[in-house]
Amino acid sequence: MNVNDTDRIFQVLEPFNYRPTDDPAQASLILLNTCSVRDKAEQKMLSQLGRLAPLKDYNDDLILGVAGCVAQQEGERLLKKVPHLDLVFGPDHIADLPGLVERARAKERVSETRFTKRKEFAFIEAAPREETRISEFVTIMKGCDKVCSFCIVPFTRGREVSKPADAVVREVERLVAAGAREVTLLGQNVNSYGKDLQGDRIPTFAQLLREVDAVAGLERLRFTTSHPMDCIDELVGCFGELRTLCEFFHLPVQSGNDRILREMRRFYTAAEYREKVAALRRQSPQIALSTDIIVGYPGETDAEFEDTLTLLADVRYDSIFAFKYSPRPGTRAAELPDSVPEAVKRERLARVLALQDAVTRTRMEAYVGQTVEVLVEGPSRMASKGQTTRWQLMGRTRTNVIVNFPVPLGEFWSDRWIGSLATVNVEQAKSNSLYGTLA
Ligand code: SF4
Repeated sequence: MNVNDTDRIFQVLEPFNYRPTDDPAQASLILLNTCSVRDKAEQKMLSQLGRLAPLKDYNDDLILGVAGCVAQQEGERLLKKVPHLDLVFGPDHIADLPGLVERARAKERVSETRFTKRKEFAFIEAAPREETRISEFVTIMKGCDKVCSFCIVPFTRGREVSKPADAVVREVERLVAAGAREVTLLGQNVNSYGKDLQGDRIPTFAQLLREVDAVAGLERLRFTTSHPMDCIDELVGCFGELRTLCEFFHLPVQSGNDRILREMRRFYTAAEYREKVAALRRQSPQIALSTDIIVGYPGETDAEFEDTLTLLADVRYDSIFAFKYSPRPGTRAAELPDSVPEAVKRERLARVLALQDAVTRTRMEAYVGQTVEVLVEGPSRMASKGQTTRWQLMGRTRTNVIVNFPVPLGEFWSDRWIGSLATVNVEQAKSNSLYGTLA
């Protein structure tokens, strides 16, 4: 979401002649876009602001601002803490940014963190850039109405607001016309899309997927993120049926233990979650699954943690994002004693990662010998850095695995590959990518 917000920040500033620069000393406006889902975001941001402070000594025109979740949470407090900070604004105020910067230029210290009312919230539609990427993001909703005890998002992003379906489809059409081949629909919980919409036409998320799938020229469709409770049969039925919908689903489970899930206010049991996974695999046997795991939630016992390991071993995800629990100020879980010692959290995280490494390796090795469809994005990372003697391109499978493959030198520099679908025979599996040759 934050990467997408950063794109929107560039988009709203561009008409006012702001252009990106890699050199902070040349900048007339520096904005730090922050995330507070994990710990230490605020400390990192404060040290970054400290490093930037000297720039203001010799550049009177420089405006220094903080955007994103930390800005939303801290607001005025941040201005008090950091005397050389000019501007603090939350995610709901990206569209207002040019005006906020002007106020800061008039020497006002600006803090804008009020949530916009549901009915008044207006999305910024992504405009195609000069260089539209092969793979683009389209925000379809903001905020979250769930109440997960550990999560800061409802406090930093507010209530759910869905973008009208016509606007989503229009945005996808524009991006595809400008060169995008893949679109990822974004939201904190995209599965509950539409519940807040009013009027005659209120599509469900599955219906929205069908509408986007019908956009001419779109090759691939993805979405993130989802709550298991809203992963209903209608959505499961879209996999394998919609041409563009990729066989990949990020379905955060967080824990494999029912008591911890109850404490987390996730409103499903491990058995119900497993049934969703089984339904997805029945519908789409090739589907790749990923998840989020939190270890060391307050009160998590050894036996409860073992349930998470068992679930991981049974589900055999393609990849996971695992974290040690850390309290987020203002959440319900932060009121509980953070009772699992740091050393235990560390050890649990290491066990989760070790188990998953072995599973991921096996799942990656299973690709060797297969022929896969790769949406080509550009030169491989190694080729970009000049670290290979081969002219390699890279792209992703429909299951979201990176594939590197060589092409002849003349072909490497030609534009014809970028955005095309290549057929690749997989010859080698590495920890995070595959290597193959053109079929
Ligand atoms: S569904 Fe996701 S974003 Fe919403 S409160 Fe739960 S963890 Fe946070």
